[in-house]
Amino acid sequence: MKASKSGVVREIAEERIRILYDLAKKAYPDDPELSKSYTRIIKQISRHYKITLSKEIKTGICKNCGSVLIPGISASVRLVSSKKYASYKCLVCGAERHIPY
Ligand SMILES: [Zn+2]
Repeated sequence: MKASKSGVVREIAEERIRILYDLAKKAYPDDPELSKSYTRIIKQISRHYKITLSKEIKTGICKNCGSVLIPGISASVRLVSSKKYASYKCLVCGAERHIPY
């Protein structure tokens, strides 16, 4: 089965997003601003091609400031077992997010 042309474009865009996410994570400790520019591009691509970001990427980028959230480096993660969610706190801007598990 051949993928349609738009399907191929989407696949390339999804691949780019994955690469950019890896780059953002690698760049963060040395250059948070560069890392943020990668996450900005991720958001632009996903908006442009209407791609839903994977759960990993969605939870890995601060919605408020666009920083990549690396537990122990740019984010603190706390499990709230009574409510069954993980609390991700961005250490750059302080925004908190609850991710059910
Ligand atoms: Zn933030």
